[in-house]
Amino acid sequence: MAAIKRAACLIGWPAAHSRSPLIHHYWLRQLGIEGGYSIEAVPPEGFAEFVLNLKTHGYVGANVTIPHKERALQLTEPDARARAVGAANTLYYDGDLLRSTNTDVEGFIGNLDASAPGWDRTAHALVLGAGGSSRAVVFGLLERGIGRIALANRSIERAQALRDLFGDRVVPIAWSDIPAALPGAGLLVNTTSLGMNGQPPLPIDLSALPADAVVADLVYVPLETDLLAAAKARGLRTADGLGMLLHQAVRGFDLWFGARPHVTAELRALVEADLLGHK
Ligand code: NDP
Repeated sequence: MAAIKRAACLIGWPAAHSRSPLIHHYWLRQLGIEGGYSIEAVPPEGFAEFVLNLKTHGYVGANVTIPHKERALQLTEPDARARAVGAANTLYYDGDLLRSTNTDVEGFIGNLDASAPGWDRTAHALVLGAGGSSRAVVFGLLERGIGRIALANRSIERAQALRDLFGDRVVPIAWSDIPAALPGAGLLVNTTSLGMNGQPPLPIDLSALPADAVVADLVYVPLETDLLAAAKARGLRTADGLGMLLHQAVRGFDLWFGARPHVTAELRALVEADLLGHK
């Protein structure tokens, strides 16, 4: 008997170029699973109908991207991660109940575990930026047990809002106080868009970081940011944005297709080539 083909999709508007089909098709091939992953361009006015009838549309689950991530939270049964981040990016069925989660949290943490094992021995992290991705990063660090997270943001009110949300282990600091916070930080994370192609650079001197510090950057265009290049030049361990992107896809695949895939060097090379082709 032929295997039943399971399919998931990415729902966005506009349906921007995404690496998700490339990633999931690679894993489907590698694991020999009969399945599919497509892109669905759904405008905001059609989103609720589409999500509430996901099964009828032929899907066992979905990724959700701009501009639907907050709405997806309201239309599904979110877990603690999605609620804390304030956005859902992965939807899946539990019987007939449509649940959601935010896989940026484990994408960030899973990538650190893979790239810099033992990174969580530090009690202090310094996180730059307090936007959408920062919420996932801060939540993941707190969940892992990091004792104190200094949170620097250009507009300090947004850092204070995250302290109000997550509690006093999050310590807002002024953007100008970053140099003073570096010597105490065992982990430095850039969650701002600074250093991304087309954005201003991230002006930061890493010489004051401890010798065993780990540096992570969420930006993945370019693949190696100036921040990561400077960290490597100092001999520090790093975790890059592409690694996070790949690791955040693992859980969705597992939930939809019932097998836990691996982030391999071959997959990374495939996505790197795609990113370089679409610069
Ligand atoms: P947001 O727009 O939600 O937040 C942007 C952040 O950057 C804010 O903290 C903002 O500060 C700060 N910022 C922007 N410009 C400046 C500037 N000139 N000086 C100082 N700070 C600045 O974006 P996201 O959090 O969604 O994304 C941030 C980056 O992370 C992007 O490059 C994105 O591609 C990447 N990303 C990567 C992922 C991955 O899987 N690797 C996943 C998600 C995001 P302020 O609040 O003051 O405006």
